[in-house]
Amino acid sequence: MFDLQSDIVKDECGIFGIYAPGEDVAKLTYYGLYSLQHRGQESAGIAVSDGGNILVFKEMGLVSQVFTERDLATLQGDIAIGHVRYSTTGSTSWENSQPLHKYSDKMALALAHNGNLVNVSELRNRLVKEGAVFESTSDSEMIAELIIRSKKHTVEAAIKDACRQLKGAYSLVILTDGKLIGVRDPYGVRPLALGRLGKHYVLASETCGLDIIGAEFLREVLPGEMVVINDKGIKSMMFSKEIKPSLCIFEFIYLARPDSSLYGRNIAGVRKNMGRALAREAPADGDLVIPIPDSGNSAAQGYAEESGIPYGEGFVKNRYVGRTFIQPSQLIRQLGIRIKLNPLKEVIEGKRLVVVDDSIVRGNTSKKIVKMLKKAGAAEVHMRISSPSIRFPCFYGIDTAEQKELIASNLSTAQICSFLGADSLEYLSFKGVVDAIGQPRSEFCLACFDGKYPIRIPQRLKISKFVLEKPTESTQALF
Ligand code: AMP
Ligand code: SF4
Repeated sequence: MFDLQSDIVKDECGIFGIYAPGEDVAKLTYYGLYSLQHRGQESAGIAVSDGGNILVFKEMGLVSQVFTERDLATLQGDIAIGHVRYSTTGSTSWENSQPLHKYSDKMALALAHNGNLVNVSELRNRLVKEGAVFESTSDSEMIAELIIRSKKHTVEAAIKDACRQLKGAYSLVILTDGKLIGVRDPYGVRPLALGRLGKHYVLASETCGLDIIGAEFLREVLPGEMVVINDKGIKSMMFSKEIKPSLCIFEFIYLARPDSSLYGRNIAGVRKNMGRALAREAPADGDLVIPIPDSGNSAAQGYAEESGIPYGEGFVKNRYVGRTFIQPSQLIRQLGIRIKLNPLKEVIEGKRLVVVDDSIVRGNTSKKIVKMLKKAGAAEVHMRISSPSIRFPCFYGIDTAEQKELIASNLSTAQICSFLGADSLEYLSFKGVVDAIGQPRSEFCLACFDGKYPIRIPQRLKISKFVLEKPTESTQALF
């Protein structure tokens, strides 16, 4: 029923942009992308411009693998944008890597996108009929195509015109016409931060992308806002009247880096609050609280502090494991998670462990972890998860899997517990998660937990991922 071999839960994307004449914008973008690497490890790219030509350099691989000093030295300009990608739509290929470069007889642009559109096929069919030729299968190219095909007379108007046709999640950085432009969809599903470096402006998916280059955080780009940065400074305009902030709550739970902030809240602090709430909601009789590194670290600390149970490190994590392009051999595959995590036998042996992680998606990781801990001599393993159970797929840019692969959409908590081989399993409640952030529930997308998608998902797309409230008898076989 579940794909035990597969741990392929995909990350999303990270974007960065800087307008800084006189500075080494390519190198600053390189550092920005380096700090956003956790948001995508498949490809990396930088586009630069001096207000005239646009130069793009992109390749498959990690930021540190893609660019050499020499490459960066050739990327001279006043403005730069960058992108790190893990595919959520479109296949894994160079053509789908970003920034995208598009031009018409009227304009040229480079664009980097984080998020996922839900009206791709309608737009694509229409554009193809109008004569558009696509080089990639990504929805991002469609955005660029809509902009360059717009009949509007200014770049700003063309971008607004394009955005009004888009449905779904998109945070964008665009380089065109001597300008750096940042855009966030009217729901603000994906984050985008605005910062200042001296007299220059910077945009980044997360505030850690500003910190790394010493830029000061100014504010978040607002849902439905476009900011235009050029030699005259910064200009802001709203392009939609239907604004409904719905930031992805999974950014707080798993995606964003602990040292970043969203809605003015530090991510590590929020995760610690989640751990505290979890200890109150789901106490356990244990001798030691251990995290699954690194995703469970902050929540485990919170759990330990609140419960009074000592905190310890039960695993050593190989910090240099990323996603590689080398497929593991069968032997290595059998070792599975051990490549990443190795249990500390001396710490674990004979202990009743409270094991804290941020989420369970397919259940494969947790199952392997419980097995490893028991083999290393743990007396009991109590799994505590600092988010509610994931029962619905994401259509907005996080590839958490199809519904049939989500363990909690198929099994009850008791059944999952026995699938994992754990002694107990508890999740944090909706209220616990939202209270830990301290922002009203209405300001978040929580769809992977409650199935209430803030941006309507076309039925055809829903069916492609089998979104069902409850599996019925006739569909049970699918699961
Ligand atoms: P699974 O084996 O599918 O249950 O994976 C759960 C683990 O994947 C947890 O430790 C999470 O920290 C991590 N995780 C959750 N969501 C994602 C995601 N979108 N991409 C990569 N890893 C994830
Ligand atoms: Fe985030 Fe889940 Fe909403 Fe996707 S469905 S945007 S992962 S909260």
